[in-house]
Amino acid sequence: MPVFENEAFDDHEQVVFCRDAASGLKAIVAVHNSSRGPALGGCRMWPYRDERAAVTDVLRLSRGMTYKSALAGLPFGGGKSVIIGDPRHDKSEALFRAMGRFVEALGGRYTVAEDVGISVADVEVMARETRFAAGLSAGSGDPSLATAYGVYMGIRAAVKHRLDRDGLAGLSVAVQGAGSVGYHLCRHLADDGAEVLVADIDRDRVERAARDAGARALAPKEVVGAPVDVFAPCALGGVIDDLAVERLQARIVAGAANNQLAEPRHGEALRRRGILYAPDYVINAGGIINISHEGPGYDRAKAFAHVALIHDTLLAIFARADQQAVPTSEAADRLAEERFSRPQHSSAAA
Ligand code: NAD
Repeated sequence: MPVFENEAFDDHEQVVFCRDAASGLKAIVAVHNSSRGPALGGCRMWPYRDERAAVTDVLRLSRGMTYKSALAGLPFGGGKSVIIGDPRHDKSEALFRAMGRFVEALGGRYTVAEDVGISVADVEVMARETRFAAGLSAGSGDPSLATAYGVYMGIRAAVKHRLDRDGLAGLSVAVQGAGSVGYHLCRHLADDGAEVLVADIDRDRVERAARDAGARALAPKEVVGAPVDVFAPCALGGVIDDLAVERLQARIVAGAANNQLAEPRHGEALRRRGILYAPDYVINAGGIINISHEGPGYDRAKAFAHVALIHDTLLAIFARADQQAVPTSEAADRLAEERFSRPQHSSAAA
């Protein structure tokens, strides 16, 4: 299984394979770029179908973190980790302690936090073994609340740009995935007067969103093509593929999921169909912005005011994309790339 030749490798600085036989841990830590500072990014626990899928996922996610922190102006590099396993059955204290020891062994080059399948409690177990863990309840807490708030502000920016409307009253939003972020997003949307539709493969999560946000349930298969104003992907990545671009009826795609575009060319495909795309790593940066405020004097109001700036960052990216007649994903990439440096390739071996 090639790593250097993986299409998502993109000059990663470091990729570490971690195995602890006693606890059953199989994990990969990836550090993409540390030119802005030590890498910070969540840990995902997922039952990958094979190792290749896990490697590709961690590489794509960690690269995304470099762009996310750069665009949000944070002093962090890009990194991410994945644990290969099913979060419903394979969690244990020994597993997370082992993960914590591997993070500690990196000496601060990578700081771990929450992602899909990993809760605040899980990171707190890791933190018994490492100093390099963030998103703890004693610090800035669960980052998904801040992520949801940032996504909500981002949806408002997209609505302003595409529909020339302030606020969401009378608009409909289909949320795919009512997990940590999706659930809180549903509540913000409902509070702002939007009609909320929600789909999740976990029925309990749909019921919770229906109960607390008045969301209407949609079948998971229907959510992408739902006749709504905004489609908000808040589950896993790769959801915007050829078929989705064809099926979408929404005029805006704006949600929390990382790596929403199956391939970069889907940014242009959305643009051609007149669908405004809020680049994922811009709109979902609320969690890491909140973590950047973590420390003894953590001030939630100040942190959330910082998260709210995602609204204006997105408006600037939309304007730049229009001016240059490029997809919003490309406009965001260019802006981010101006803010971190890449290693210089040596021309040839001596
Ligand atoms: P989560 O695991 O709490 O929620 C994901 C939800 O999606 C789950 O309820 C799951 O059942 C559902 N789901 C999975 N596949 C689905 C499908 N095909 N159709 C419908 N629902 C499906 O994860 P989360 O923390 O809410 O994160 C959601 C997304 O946002 C992820 O892509 C994550 O990387 C990204 N993100 C999260 C944060 C954060 O702060 N948690 C920050 C930035 C980005």
